[in-house]
Amino acid sequence: MRGSGPEILAAAPGPIAKIILSHAHADHRGAAPELEAPIYCHPDEVDDAQTDWPQSYLDFSLINNERIREGLRRLNQMWDSGPVQIAGTVDEGDEVAGMRVVHVPGHAPGEIALFRAADGLLLAGDAIYTQDAETGQPASARVPHQFANWDTEQARASIRKLITYKPTSVWLGHSTSITGDVEPQLKAAAPSDRADPTPRVGSGPTLAQPSVREHPRTPRRDERRAEWISAERVPPSTARRELNPVDSAVR
Ligand SMILES: [Zn+2]
Repeated sequence: MRGSGPEILAAAPGPIAKIILSHAHADHRGAAPELEAPIYCHPDEVDDAQTDWPQSYLDFSLINNERIREGLRRLNQMWDSGPVQIAGTVDEGDEVAGMRVVHVPGHAPGEIALFRAADGLLLAGDAIYTQDAETGQPASARVPHQFANWDTEQARASIRKLITYKPTSVWLGHSTSITGDVEPQLKAAAPSDRADPTPRVGSGPTLAQPSVREHPRTPRRDERRAEWISAERVPPSTARRELNPVDSAVR
C-alpha cells in the first residue's frame, strides 16, 4: 500500500530486482512505485494495473456492514498510488525466484500465486482469505468476499486448483497464514460438490488445472451470486497472526 515502500526496502535482504504483483488491486500495487524496480504481473492484469482505481468490477455495495463498507472504500483510495507502469509479464508455469507461477483467476482476472515445490510453500496473494471481510476478524480459509472479485465462482475453482499442488503452508495477502493440516482447510474453502463450470480432466497439478476463462473486457458484477460463505473462525492451532516476511516482495 502507498507509503509502505521504505518499510519494504528496509526489510529486503538486498536491492529489489523485480516486483511481482499478485494482482493490481490498490492495496497490492500502492507501494510498488516507491521501490524503484521494474513491475511485473500476469498478462490478464496489465490493463487494470495501468488504469486508475477502482477496477470496473469492484462493488462495495455488496458489503453488508456499513462501517466496513465505507471504511474499506476510503482505505483503498488512500492505499493506492495510481496506475503503475508494467515492465513485463509472468504467466502460468514461469519461475520466479525458485517459485512456480500459478494463474488463479477469480479475485482478479490476472491473480497469480507462487508455489515452491522444495518445501510446499504457497504464496497465494488474495486467492484465499482467512479473514471475514464483513467484520475484519480472522476466520477460516474461504474465497475472497465477492465485493472485490472479478468472478467468485472462478475464484472457488482456483482454490481447488491450488489444492492439487499439495501446499504445506499457505501465506496470504491478508490476515493469518494457513498451516497445519492445510488440505482440509482449503477443501472447506472451496467444496467440490458445488456446481463447477470448469470440470477437471486427469489428475495432478498439470492435468487437473481447471481451464481458465479468458478475461472479458466487460465486468462480471451482474453474474455474481450472493452466496458468500459464512464460515466459522479458525481454531487457534491452525491460525497464526504474523507478518509474512515475503509479503513485501510479493504483493
Ligand atoms: Zn485484492
